[in-house]
Amino acid sequence: MAASLLLVNNGIFPITRDAEGKLLADVPATGLQNPGTIQGEGKLVGTASLFIRLSGCNLRCMWNVPEGGVSACDTPDSSFDVSKNWLWKVDEIIETVRHNLGNMRHVVITGGEPTIQHRSLKELCHRLKEEFDVHITIETNGTLFDEELASYIDLFSISPKLSDSLVTEEKLMQLPRQLAGKVAAAPSQKSPCPEVIQQYIDVCRNSGGEKDFQLKFVMTGPENAKSIHNEVLNHISGWEPSDILAMPLGGNHHTLGKTSHRVLETAIQHGWRYCPRIHIDLFGDKPGV
Ligand code: SF4
Repeated sequence: MAASLLLVNNGIFPITRDAEGKLLADVPATGLQNPGTIQGEGKLVGTASLFIRLSGCNLRCMWNVPEGGVSACDTPDSSFDVSKNWLWKVDEIIETVRHNLGNMRHVVITGGEPTIQHRSLKELCHRLKEEFDVHITIETNGTLFDEELASYIDLFSISPKLSDSLVTEEKLMQLPRQLAGKVAAAPSQKSPCPEVIQQYIDVCRNSGGEKDFQLKFVMTGPENAKSIHNEVLNHISGWEPSDILAMPLGGNHHTLGKTSHRVLETAIQHGWRYCPRIHIDLFGDKPGV
């Protein structure tokens, strides 16, 4: 049977043509006439890229926001609300990439947690390399590792989720009832997993400089630094402070306004890399950009 992957609705983005090369009726969510967008976060920020967002996650994250309230996973359609998602054949994904890649040399595989579909994802990454020779970034929560899949990836963007992201009854009570029900019903496994993160770092350190990684932590401010050390950094080796990305919590300007300066201050104190989210500056909190 042909390999397939479960993607979110409009899971290859931004695009202007379908798998057969036919022009789509709607312009992409970016508002631009051409396919593609930029990587909005991390070491490759600003790089022209095409995104493939896989559906499903093995975690269900929620954070308390300073000054009150909670912020749940900013990609709910790929984590605890997967009702509108689509099964794509790998062939269809490859053809859609072919008709939209243009001059872009970077493809970003994101989620959800892409590695939970590692069997078919290996085939997709193998084909992306073979047919287009593109640079592949995978965005992962760092709880699962597959050696063959890792062999196709150029940048591992690992975003370990700490104990402050765990769902609690107190947090659930602050969400609208329908959303709280979906979050409560979703599966979740242990996180963070330093032993898995170490496998990613080791693959990079043994690659002769061909592969790279970044550890991206969603933060609200200095109160997170102790957990980042205690739950992850103290248990792994082979990283430099510049591999640690301090990213302010928030999928919109309102929440980012509460967190960004506190996180910036913490990043500077620790010698970490502050991680702006420039896609939110450019496009707001729309999906598919
Ligand atoms: S790991 Fe990422 S995709 Fe999964 S629930 Fe947490 S924030 Fe959402």
